[in-house]
Order: sequence, then C-alpha cells, then structure tokens
Amino acid sequence: MPAHLALNYRSPAQQARVVTEAWGRENLYCPNCQSPILTPTPNNTAASDFLCPACGLPYQLKSKSSPIGNRIVDAAYNAMMQAIREDRTPNLYALHYNRVAWEVRDLILIPHFAFSVSAIEARKPLGAGARRAGWQGCNIVLNNIPTDAKIRLVSGGVPAPPRQVRESFRRLRPLKEISPAERGWTLDVLRVVRALGKHQFANGDVYAFESYLESLHPDNRHVRDKIRQQLQVLRDRGFLVQVERGVWALRDDDVRPAR
Ligand SMILES: [Zn+2]
Repeated sequence: MPAHLALNYRSPAQQARVVTEAWGRENLYCPNCQSPILTPTPNNTAASDFLCPACGLPYQLKSKSSPIGNRIVDAAYNAMMQAIREDRTPNLYALHYNRVAWEVRDLILIPHFAFSVSAIEARKPLGAGARRAGWQGCNIVLNNIPTDAKIRLVSGGVPAPPRQVRESFRRLRPLKEISPAERGWTLDVLRVVRALGKHQFANGDVYAFESYLESLHPDNRHVRDKIRQQLQVLRDRGFLVQVERGVWALRDDDVRPAR
C-alpha cells in the first residue's frame, strides 16, 4: 500500500482513509466488465466511493486493520433496508490490511444483488447522550450471505487472478434478474444449499431448515412450497441441476466446501 501518504496525517483514522483510498484507486477493478480501474467518486457521494468508468456500477470500499470476521459495520439501518428493497445497494469491497506493514491481507467483494434483508442486523440506537441520539446503524452479517457471493480477490495477501474473479461474478449475475422482493428468498435458500456441503441433495435436506427460513421470513406460512419454488429458481438460473423429482445437484464444476 502507498504507506508514505500516511506521513502527512497524525490521526490514525485519516491515515487509514488516505492510504486505503489511494490503494483502491491503483488496484481495484471492475468484476462486472473488463475495466482495469475504478474511478473515485467526489467526496461525500452517498453510499459509493468508486464508479466503474465503463459500465457505471458503483462500489463502496470498507477497510479495517483487523480480520474481516462475520460483521461489517454499515450505515443507517433504515436506509440500508430501503436500498435493498429498491435494489440500490452498491457493490461492497471489504478490505483487511495490516497496519504495521501497510499490506493488504484480504479483500472480498459482495455484489450489489447479493444483499438480502436477512443479512442486515440492526444495531442498538445511539443513547440519549450522543450527538445523534436515536440514530440506528446496522451490521452486514457475512454468514447470512451465500459463500459464492463473497468473492475473494485477495486471501492471506495472495491475489486471485482477475479472470477467476470475473467468472465468479458472472455466475452470480442471474440473481440480478430476480425481483428484490423475491431475491431474499433465493439467496437464503442458496445459502442453505451451500451449507449442506453435499454435491447431491433432496428437498428433505433443505426442509430441515424450514423453521430457520421461517424465522427469516415470518410473513410466509408456506415455507416448504417456497423452498421448492426457490430450488426451481436456482435450477433455472444455472446454480443447480435437477437430477429427478425432488433431487438436486450442484453443477459438476461448482462443488465448494461448506463454510
Ligand atoms: Zn464495469
């Protein structure tokens, strides 16, 4: 990372901002098209830090000097929930860097269409003594996002080939065509399917998560019907192959370890 930029600032927060932003300008690229660069947005542009100059997709970069973990602190809860419902979330780059060596350790990308309402957790509203008392932020819960929708660009300091990153993004893109209201279900069923860790599975394997899925979608009383419907959606979008009635398989080239 361009560590020398930190020398101009005293505050650790300022140092981190200026170094990570400069790194992003030099190194981030667009996984949605062939653009090798992203362009920084003007300061204070709401909810996006970079734009792809070729396809126009917006990106947000969230950086921290500790491992990415399971939760990413995000902005206002209500605004994020509304953005998901209106399909306006930006693509999210989450960066973990080493603050001593100023080295990038991990970088993951969550495509804008991979956020479901169930992946957003409300934080406690700020107390009466706070400057913005009552304001409520949110966390993005990474465990509630399907494994394949957390695209790894750098793992333990080792970058993945851009070709592979773009291929991972391309495979997820059919999710974009599903309406935001429906997509939450699709993402949650996909996540359960990935968590099974099986190449082939039956409806019953997914029904085992019925009460869990019901807790995420309390307004839906026909959860098994919904599960079957979403398995068909995942088949139609190229994520699953139907082996026979009620039996499904991951695509042969798409077996991933459960995580
Ligand atoms: Zn692009």
